[in-house]
Amino acid sequence: MTPLLPPVDAPPLFEGLRVEPEEARSILRPQKDERYGFGFALSPYRGCGHGCRYCYVREYPNTLHRPEDWGGWVAPKLNAPELLWAQRHKLHEARVFMASATDPYQPLERQYRLSRRCLEVLLLCPTTEVIVHTRSPLVLQDLELLKAFGGRLTVGLSIPTDDDTVRQVVEPHAPAIPSRWAAAERLAAAGIAVTIGVAPLLAVHDARAFARRARASGAAKAWVGGLRLLKQDPFYKLLADHGWLKVLDPDYKEGIRAAFLEAFPARKHTREARPRAEAPAAPPPPRQPGLFDRVG
Ligand code: SF4
Repeated sequence: MTPLLPPVDAPPLFEGLRVEPEEARSILRPQKDERYGFGFALSPYRGCGHGCRYCYVREYPNTLHRPEDWGGWVAPKLNAPELLWAQRHKLHEARVFMASATDPYQPLERQYRLSRRCLEVLLLCPTTEVIVHTRSPLVLQDLELLKAFGGRLTVGLSIPTDDDTVRQVVEPHAPAIPSRWAAAERLAAAGIAVTIGVAPLLAVHDARAFARRARASGAAKAWVGGLRLLKQDPFYKLLADHGWLKVLDPDYKEGIRAAFLEAFPARKHTREARPRAEAPAAPPPPRQPGLFDRVG
């Protein structure tokens, strides 16, 4: 039986978060994106308790919530695992990205376990490639399940800055940066392919030390992604108030990217990925250009 309390330190739900359970009508969203490749996005929740202040998802069409309420509500899709099971025929040799419009390991996952149950379905789809992308060490509560995927699963950890004081301003309800490094280390040590996503790139204290830290975590790959801001985004003011407008400068991004290319030499690091702790459950499907294929 799944334990009720995860064996990791993750932030509790913040006071005032509204939980709005719902029955979803669909769970697999076809996706064709230069970063993600082709496949499906799978989001077991709507909304996100991490409430990152730059998050563009807050502007997605939504009749019940205002953009400014983003981060204050989460709708767990209670039937997500059952829907996924019913649609598993679509997943033959497909890539599933989990998740595109929420964090699959936000604090509510401690209680609802929807991401875990969706992963249990995906484990039974032997030709499906899975990418789990999160900001949270809560992913470690499913470490054994993740290991069972062998070579067809990657965990991406977003670590957009090396400075937790920046994180406290910009991602106020997301886990601290040191806890994400610890999660990367535990995942990699367990033989799971880890990718560090420096995205969206925020203010960085020491680019080369940051990149070396990423490499030392055991991550096989890393990539650097710029901020995607909305028109008249209030995040501009936050950046200006803190003296962080440099993150919008292409040269700044290039400097960070160069540091990561130095720490993760092109191509070479993919061949140096740590051996798996367990044999793959099935031969990995052909890879397509996607989110984690290069530093960029
Ligand atoms: S964790 Fe991701 S989905 Fe959630 S608020 Fe932050 S950027 Fe948005």
